[in-house]
Amino acid sequence: MNRRLAAVIAIVPLVVIVVAARLAHVQRPVSVEQSIARYLKQSNIDLRASDNLGAMAVPFVDGSRFAGKINTRSAPIPGYLNLYVIAADPDHEFGFLRCNCAYIGHSIVLCDKRFLETFTTALRYAQPDQPQVLEQVNRAFSTFLTNWLVGHEIGHATLHDLDGRFVMSSRPVWPWQSNTVVWKQRENEADNFVIDHLSQDSAQRANFTLTNIMFQTYHRAYVEQHQDSPFSRSPSLWQRIEHLLNSQSTVQSPPTNSGSVVYIRDSWDGIHDPWVFRAFRMSGALNDRVPAVAGDPGFLQGLSANFALSTNGYDPGTFCDGVALREP
Ligand SMILES: [Zn+2]
Repeated sequence: MNRRLAAVIAIVPLVVIVVAARLAHVQRPVSVEQSIARYLKQSNIDLRASDNLGAMAVPFVDGSRFAGKINTRSAPIPGYLNLYVIAADPDHEFGFLRCNCAYIGHSIVLCDKRFLETFTTALRYAQPDQPQVLEQVNRAFSTFLTNWLVGHEIGHATLHDLDGRFVMSSRPVWPWQSNTVVWKQRENEADNFVIDHLSQDSAQRANFTLTNIMFQTYHRAYVEQHQDSPFSRSPSLWQRIEHLLNSQSTVQSPPTNSGSVVYIRDSWDGIHDPWVFRAFRMSGALNDRVPAVAGDPGFLQGLSANFALSTNGYDPGTFCDGVALREP
């Protein structure tokens, strides 16, 4: 054997070891904590937006194991509630988060920045150069919508992860899976958690926003489903709402005869009800908790009778698709 061959034979195992070590490194699963730490370093997490979320979280963690323990600036700290707004996801670590907020277990809440931004225009009454009072309306809407989302995810953290074993992957993928019932119940509990933790001020904003979700959704669904009716050709919003309110006396009759019912597409996942149905349920909870703010429960009941679920009903889409609940 010549020297050269001997050298090659000696080097080959070394190369194999180095390559194997690199492969092992690449394939080692990266924990979500590590991914977040990396994204913090790379500025893929928006610290200012995360801080805002942290500030909103305070009333929701009051009296829980996370009281005084909110982290938005450093890698996830065990025992703390860790909240982050993802501004960019170059390594596709959080693909499931597209246009959403989620509690992902490990005491971590993540929000897609685009999703939060759409909330500022979801129920919009005024363009920027319009009266200040309407700007305040816009702010009230987006404040409550963001509160809803943050509070909902914290609800999952405090109610559904007491043993620290909450994992997203156990969520059902298809509506007919047996654990769908449990998860659907959790979603309702998380929404109720939001209502249970609202201050008097926020309760008013909540009532205001939830009622507007109902009217706006009704308005858009009605126009879509009655394209050719004379009603839809008289486009005043107030005329439509007046019609809706006047139809209260007929709400007890079957939906198909009342003429005022709109059909809303059921959710694809079988867990989250459409926004408007969640709004009705939360308004009901608000009624129970703060009757003075929420008003007449009969009104809610009458209004909700004008909405029905249908597989081919009106679909407002996701907020990030650019679909606002309010007409542009
Ligand atoms: Zn949820």
